[in-house]
Amino acid sequence: MNEKQFEGKSAIVTGATRGIGKAIALQLANRGCNVAFNYASSAEAAEKIKSEIEGLGVKAFADSCDVADTNAAADFVKHVKSEFGGIDFLVNNAGITRDNLIMRMKEDDWDSVIDTNLKGAWNFSKAAVRPMMRNENGGSILNISSISGVVGMLGQSNYSASKAGMIGLTKSLAKEIASRNITVNALALGLVETDMASEMNEEYREKILSEIPLGRLGNTQEVAEIVCFLLSDSAKYITGQVIQADGGIAM
Ligand code: NAP
Repeated sequence: MNEKQFEGKSAIVTGATRGIGKAIALQLANRGCNVAFNYASSAEAAEKIKSEIEGLGVKAFADSCDVADTNAAADFVKHVKSEFGGIDFLVNNAGITRDNLIMRMKEDDWDSVIDTNLKGAWNFSKAAVRPMMRNENGGSILNISSISGVVGMLGQSNYSASKAGMIGLTKSLAKEIASRNITVNALALGLVETDMASEMNEEYREKILSEIPLGRLGNTQEVAEIVCFLLSDSAKYITGQVIQADGGIAM
């Protein structure tokens, strides 16, 4: 593999101050890609990651921007386009959980999860599609979904619905913009070692772990490697697909 395979390319990764988004942002930068990312509140972490990305010899841009805010998302994308000169890749990664059984789940738990995970991905896709259409080689959008959106999970009616919604968004958008050489795929992840996974009830987490055929959680590094493949020219004939990386739990 060419180590600087993304030289001259530019990416937006939503929610890259921690966990999976951070690993994706750094891996893209490591391969020569300019990286812009946003976050909800972790300004200090964002500054550190921005410096780390710049240290890899590429451009970086970081700003707080609530993915659920349509106008803020549009402004963010516009700014990135003018800073970087174009946008080749969008990774809709920002996401939250507010788990509870439906009888105990509050309306706000439903709204905030749907707004962040699903509307957030729609907001950024809507804003990024036009600049991508201007690229000679199109572009790639990758939506970070979850097996929870494929098979459902106890206590996650809001989160499962948001992640299943991302799959519908992926397929419809893939059909809409395939003719512009823009691919749109979803990566449905199983449990990955991050802050989000550690928030899970310990007993439930152990139960899930015992059901994973590969016998371990995923790690952010291997997720970032899969993302780079799905954004790369090697995957240019893959669109509208849900790729599962879950240790085999949902097979
Ligand atoms: P995480 O460690 O909790 O990090 C979430 C990131 O999203 C942070 O950078 C956070 O920013 C940002 N964010 C949250 N709400 C935001 C908002 N409204 N606007 C902008 N940014 C926001 O999460 P993770 O575990 O890495 O998960 C990343 C993605 O993978 C999510 O979509 C998640 O659903 C999906 N996923 C995760 C797992 C897993 O086991 N970890 C499994 C399947 C799918 P702040 O730091 O400022 O809060």
